[in-house]
Amino acid sequence: MRLYNTLSREVEEVVPVEPGRVKMYACGPTVYRSVHLGNLRTFMLADLVRRVAEFEGYDVTLVQNITDVGHMTDESSPEAVDKMLLAMEDEGLQPLEIAEKYTKAALEDMAAVGIRVPDLMPKATDHIPEMIALTETLIEREHAYVVDSGSVYYDVASFEGYGKLSGNTLDKLRAGHRDLETDPSKRHPADFALWKAAGSGRLMKWPSPWGEGFPGWHIECSAMSMKYLGDRFDIHTGGNDLKFPHHEDEIAQSEGAVGHEVVSTWLHGGFLRLTGQKIAKSTGNVIRAPELVERGLDPLAFRWLTFQTRYRSEMDFTWEAMGTADQRVKQLRRHVAEWGEPSADLGAAGKDFDARFREAVASDLDMPTAVRVVNDLDHSTDMPSAEKRALLASWDHVLGLDLEREARAGWEPTEEIQRLVAERDGARSAKDFARSDELRDELQAMGLEVMDAAEGTRVRPRD
Ligand SMILES: [Zn+2]
Repeated sequence: MRLYNTLSREVEEVVPVEPGRVKMYACGPTVYRSVHLGNLRTFMLADLVRRVAEFEGYDVTLVQNITDVGHMTDESSPEAVDKMLLAMEDEGLQPLEIAEKYTKAALEDMAAVGIRVPDLMPKATDHIPEMIALTETLIEREHAYVVDSGSVYYDVASFEGYGKLSGNTLDKLRAGHRDLETDPSKRHPADFALWKAAGSGRLMKWPSPWGEGFPGWHIECSAMSMKYLGDRFDIHTGGNDLKFPHHEDEIAQSEGAVGHEVVSTWLHGGFLRLTGQKIAKSTGNVIRAPELVERGLDPLAFRWLTFQTRYRSEMDFTWEAMGTADQRVKQLRRHVAEWGEPSADLGAAGKDFDARFREAVASDLDMPTAVRVVNDLDHSTDMPSAEKRALLASWDHVLGLDLEREARAGWEPTEEIQRLVAERDGARSAKDFARSDELRDELQAMGLEVMDAAEGTRVRPRD
């Protein structure tokens, strides 16, 4: 499997630290609000890497965090309004109730679009001691300093590689290309909080060596990724918007604490735009997975829609394209059902299709090409149906479209239908096309779709 590594800016072969096992960390949902399709596209990226790695025979450990503290306020001002507080006021719930409500909703929405449950989903609030310990290590190693208010800042100038992921080096940041808040107690405007002193009215706060407070947002991902995956692991994913500052700061924290590289490959996914506009919480232009269902669409078809675009590119969401994807996935499921029993043995052409699909998904998750292979296979007239069925069943481990759904539902033609089909095939082989057309009309009048396949007449219920 080859992936584009944001850190090296190159497509590289994934060579796991531990042979045979791929260890991954994905930045997960922030749970004071619902996840939208743009978040789900990003989470699907981690799930897709996991699926492809498994398809290639690796064991995979995927850790995806739940941010229920930290990313709740604008980064450095202790006075900034806590979004969790706002959600509480709006909904009349306590912080943990809000976190629980939106965690449940996020898991439901992820499942709806076929994202398999990660191996571990640690919550930030369950890891405050680990974050405090990591902050203490960074102070000891002179990568962090405590200010009078009781907050702890990371000293970005102490970390030589700062900016290597995003290109936002200290010179550029100091030159003011970035809109950074300047707290006079900070040594550099890009210094970020590891621990924040609790301001007034804050409900979620914990004791620490520096007084009552709460962790910064970035520290949770360093603490939890290294706790569960160790200080060397393979792949870290997130949306493009997390490259800076979140992942840049995570690198500074993790590498600052252990003194060596922690993550081999950084993978970032492009935005989803709605009618040309980025789906952001603030625009109100938010579509959630349940809305797909409300409109009679299969949420798994959202996967097929995203496969049309490379994961790093921005993607436009339109209801029209979503409807087309929905139709196509349902059509593929019907075809799989019609293809009959799968065959374990592939001929040369079948092996060639399989190689093309495998090459596509291994080439930096080239799903648009994988989609073309699926379509070519579906349209091919010389491939035996049993091989088509076997190939799609195998590829569905990566695609996650539940392509066997219709086959499982098991529509069986009645004896009457089977008799008419056999009679029509007889008429066709006898080149009695008038009779063949009559029988076709008769079958259609029974509410069936009639198709001429290489092996004879195929029928299925019309939608
Ligand atoms: Zn993160």
